[in-house]
Amino acid sequence: MSRRQKKKEFVRDIVLQRIDRLFEEAFIEFPANAQRSDRYVELVQKLATKHRVPLRKTYKMRFCRSCGAFFVYGANARVRIKDKRTVITCLRCHDMRRY
Ligand SMILES: [Zn+2]
Repeated sequence: MSRRQKKKEFVRDIVLQRIDRLFEEAFIEFPANAQRSDRYVELVQKLATKHRVPLRKTYKMRFCRSCGAFFVYGANARVRIKDKRTVITCLRCHDMRRY
């Protein structure tokens, strides 16, 4: 592996760690400060775009791609199974996503 590739791997590793942490924090902050959770989601999106790290599906399902709300299922997002697919509805902007 070239040195450049190695560096890229290294950066990607750190970015993924930060994203993990931000989602953790977003979940902790949510009950008291939902706005802060949304801000963390914004940071995650920025990080992923800047470093071109693809977000895992499990991450993509944790926030609204339309209004940027951090999802806590049952609180601000509805999760239903329809035709064997998971449908997540954002209760803030009513955007629906199927997975
Ligand atoms: Zn939304």
